[in-house]
Amino acid sequence: MGIATVLSRAQRGIDAPQVRVEVDIGAGLPAFNIVGLPEAVVKESKDRVRSALCNSDFKFPCGRIIVNLAPADLPKEGGRFDLPIAVGILIASAQLTDVRCELNECEIYGELSLSGELRSMKAVLPAALAAATAGHSVILPHINASEAALVKDCEVIAARHIVEVCAYIAGTGRLERFRANVPSFTPAVTPDLCDVRGQPHARRALEIAAAGQHSLLLIGSPGVGKSMLARRLSGIVPPMNDAEAMEVAAVRSIAGRPLKPSEWRARPFRSPHHSVSAAALVGGGVYPRPGEISLAHNGMLFLDELPEFERHVLEVLREPLEVGAITISRAARQSEFPARFQLIAAMNPCPCGYLGDTNGNCQCTADQVRRYRSRISGPLLDRLDLHVYVPRLEFKSLRTGSGEASKEVAARVMRTRELQVRRQGGCNADLDNAAVERHCTPNADGLSILERATQRLGLSARGYHRVLKVARTIADMAGRPRIEFEHLTEALALRSLDRRQ
Ligand SMILES: [Zn+2]
Repeated sequence: MGIATVLSRAQRGIDAPQVRVEVDIGAGLPAFNIVGLPEAVVKESKDRVRSALCNSDFKFPCGRIIVNLAPADLPKEGGRFDLPIAVGILIASAQLTDVRCELNECEIYGELSLSGELRSMKAVLPAALAAATAGHSVILPHINASEAALVKDCEVIAARHIVEVCAYIAGTGRLERFRANVPSFTPAVTPDLCDVRGQPHARRALEIAAAGQHSLLLIGSPGVGKSMLARRLSGIVPPMNDAEAMEVAAVRSIAGRPLKPSEWRARPFRSPHHSVSAAALVGGGVYPRPGEISLAHNGMLFLDELPEFERHVLEVLREPLEVGAITISRAARQSEFPARFQLIAAMNPCPCGYLGDTNGNCQCTADQVRRYRSRISGPLLDRLDLHVYVPRLEFKSLRTGSGEASKEVAARVMRTRELQVRRQGGCNADLDNAAVERHCTPNADGLSILERATQRLGLSARGYHRVLKVARTIADMAGRPRIEFEHLTEALALRSLDRRQ
């Protein structure tokens, strides 16, 4: 009887902290205890481990078995500790010898079936990332191997059954090694802007939003093409770099929806329905899972029919919009998930949808319109940088040729983004107040119109800073070092809801 230690990892938010699975088998009455604050699922692991070992021609030791998952204060869930516990028991009971002496540099994860097969697990990617950083290789279920192999510098050893794992550790069998396999292709083609006829103002606003990563609100009657425009944003923003793509893949891994290779590097575009709950939007659950805003990390969150969302659901967006992350507290534990997304929203101009529309016959009263718009709180409206009205096209515009293609717009957007990165290291939407003071000072003409507009519109301090950031982007698009009168005029005109209220 003896002691064994096997390395594994837990999951907490986007992190995968190390867990040491310590197994101690001593003399005494037969007992099998797992300590270290494991939760209900880990306790069930006892039964699976016992059956898997017995059904794989190993002996379940009859002494007093204590399994300690350290550190104790780490929340642990899922069956991912089955395999390391089973391997630890076999080593501690001398049924298995680690001939390669590799287990101090190798991590093991995997849930066992009663017959000893390895089942797939969630959140493989964050674990593989952390293992690679620690210089460890990983042994895991074959079905998860290609996902883990997205991580460069991670040696991935894949197995289908506990017997294979034991033969590998004992040096009597081989296991398949997965090489790092980051897909090299570019994202699938998204819908192209050339499909959008006319709409010069909306197209301009979309380009500004893409260039400075600003949030955007599209206002227009049903069927004028608001969501058609929104869905074309991802085709004109710069592609993700490897680090961003890996963050997106990690969130998907935690959500239990691993990326398909065809989705690699494609910016996420999430469009939850307006009946979405607050928990589904920002994340939640007993074991906190990422919500829509985290699935939209490094991409876009599109909220169609904005006033139809429950107000308290929209209010929970305020924190992530400021800090780019969301902290979910459940009982004593906290999980943080990344949530840096570009918010795109769309709404009708009034409850019936046809206010100001040449086709419609709006009978909404001014009071109804005001109540409808007030469903979007001032603080949320403040956080929407650009408000643009999308009119219905005249028949003759519908017949004109196609618009400029996404590829050409994307090239301009890319140049403007590069300029921002050279100047301040990030995009204009992310400038903090001090950086706004430093980089967004208008010339004298610009300053005077800003002063007048601030008084007339009653802009909040936040709204004021946002106007300056949008004006900075417009000036950058024009290649101007200072923000001038015309840049500010355009930025102010793009806050039409402030003006109407
Ligand atoms: Zn109406």
